[in-house]
This record gives sequence, C-alpha cells and structure tokens, in this order.
Amino acid sequence: MPELPEVEVVRRGLASWVAGRTIEAVDVVDARSVRRHPLGPEDFRGQLEGALVLDAVRRGKYLWLPLSDPDVPEARVHDPGAGPHTALLAHLGMSGQLLVEEPEAPDEKHLKVRLTLSDTLGMPRELRFVDQRIFGGLAVVPLVPTHDSGPGGRGDSDLPLIPGEAAHIGRDPLDPLFDPEAFHLRLRARRTGIKRALLDQRLVSGIGNIYADEALWGARLHYARPTDTLRRPETERLVHAVRDVMGRALVAGGTSFDSLYVNVNGASGYFSRSLDAYGRAGRACRRCAAAGEGGVIVRERFMNRSSYRCTRCQPVPRNARW
Ligand SMILES: [Zn+2]
Repeated sequence: MPELPEVEVVRRGLASWVAGRTIEAVDVVDARSVRRHPLGPEDFRGQLEGALVLDAVRRGKYLWLPLSDPDVPEARVHDPGAGPHTALLAHLGMSGQLLVEEPEAPDEKHLKVRLTLSDTLGMPRELRFVDQRIFGGLAVVPLVPTHDSGPGGRGDSDLPLIPGEAAHIGRDPLDPLFDPEAFHLRLRARRTGIKRALLDQRLVSGIGNIYADEALWGARLHYARPTDTLRRPETERLVHAVRDVMGRALVAGGTSFDSLYVNVNGASGYFSRSLDAYGRAGRACRRCAAAGEGGVIVRERFMNRSSYRCTRCQPVPRNARW
C-alpha cells in the first residue's frame, strides 16, 4: 500500500510529464479497472478524449488530474467558474502504478488502461495504469468547491475544487495550507488517543500506520496519550516529526525516481534502512542508545494492528486512552 510520500513522488512526476497535454486516445484494456466510473468504459473514454490535463493534485493519498473541457476557451481553463470541471481520479489501491512511457515501450504485463497524450511538450507520451491486484482503478469525477475555498490540495494550480469523495478529509501535513495551530485546537477538543487521531483522515489526511509510529517516536509520545492533554509544544513536536519523516521519505523516493518512470513503489528501500520504530521490535531504541540509556522498541497490538514504541522514551501516559 503506497504511503503519502510515494503518492507525492508520483504526483510530481505526473505534474511535470502529463500536465499541459491533451488526452488524444483512451484504451481501456481491462474494464475492471474503471469499475468506479459509474457510466462504464465507453463513457470514461468519451469524457477523457480531447480533455486538457491542467495539473496533478494530491490531498492525503487522493490523487487526481483536473481536466479542462475542450469547449472552454484557453484563457479561462484555470477559472473555477468556467465549469463543469471534472478530474481523472486515481485509486492506487494495493499495487496500482501510474507510468509515463514512450509509445514504443512494450506493454506491461498488468497494463489496464492506456492514455495517449499529445506531444505538446515536444514528444509523445503514454500514461499507463498498471495494476496487478486490481484493487485500484480510475474514474472521471466531478469536482466540487473546497470547504475552506483554498486549493484542493498540493499541486501547481490554485483551483479551489476537489473530488466530492475527498472533500471531507483534512489537509495533509505536506499541504502548504495545513494549519498546525488549528490542528492543535482540534486535537485538544477531542477525547481520544493521539494515534487514533493521527489515523483519522477527517482530522489530518495521509498518515498511515508506519508514519504514525515513526512520528510518535520522533515526538517522544505514547500512542495512547489523551489528545485533550496535549500541550502546544508537544503538538508542534509531533507536526515537525511527521513532516520530517515524510520529507526524508520524499528525498529517498526522489533519488530513485527516474523522470520517465513514475513508480509508486520507488520508496521501498527507504523503509528498510531509515525507520526508527516501525518493524524494530526487540531492538535497542536508537535515541536511547545514543544517550547511553537502555530503551527497547516493543510491538503491541492496538486498533487491530501493530504499534511500535520505545519502552523508555515513550512511556505509558496517565489516563491513557486505548
Ligand atoms: Zn527510546
């Protein structure tokens, strides 16, 4: 399952290779991969052919390409009033990949959808959706106004529109409009444990189990810490830790990122080397070891999954909320 930094790597690749091109042809190789498009493969094709890709935008793990209707005059394509606006929404699922390829490149074994793009940027390209396990898929969806009138998510355009199914989720920590102070106040207003809150997409999006454990380790907070007892410096530490661990994953994903090959799984090497808590059960806590202390990482069942923490620098809090 791709985590937010991997999706952001994909978004950047799409922004540089796909935005600004027109979709000239659509080949639905496997109709199961457009099952989320309610009107079927023919309608999917009809809505995409001729559309101009304006940008690549992401909020949390939601990724979409805002499209301009071919009938909207060029001067108005970025005008939110010049609707109707739609987007190509990508669900990556467990194994979905979006690849930018030269048309001559051989088809991938699990190729599901092929979009032929104009050669506006000097060379023809194809955008290919490849998915081995078919949990992912593509759909053309209407865009709705954002609740806060800000941009839909992280992208190059300021279009204040978002797919309806993503409109309820909070901005993610890599979004320039993510507001740490508002986040702190919303945490304080809740009566839950901090890890539950971090995984609640309505509060903050894009933080999965691995990044939650890493960020809590970075901020020296136990996962069952009551959110209503968080002090402002603790929330600041937590936001800093989330951004830090995601930023490091982005850099790692970026170094293995071939500009022509947008690969969702590119950051996997990062996980094996750089994680401080997740997957390290029974091993010494790196921070404690550096201070000459004996903290050990333990794995515990929490919310039906594994949680990793240090026994010494993330102790069980008073009034823990499990
Ligand atoms: Zn420790």
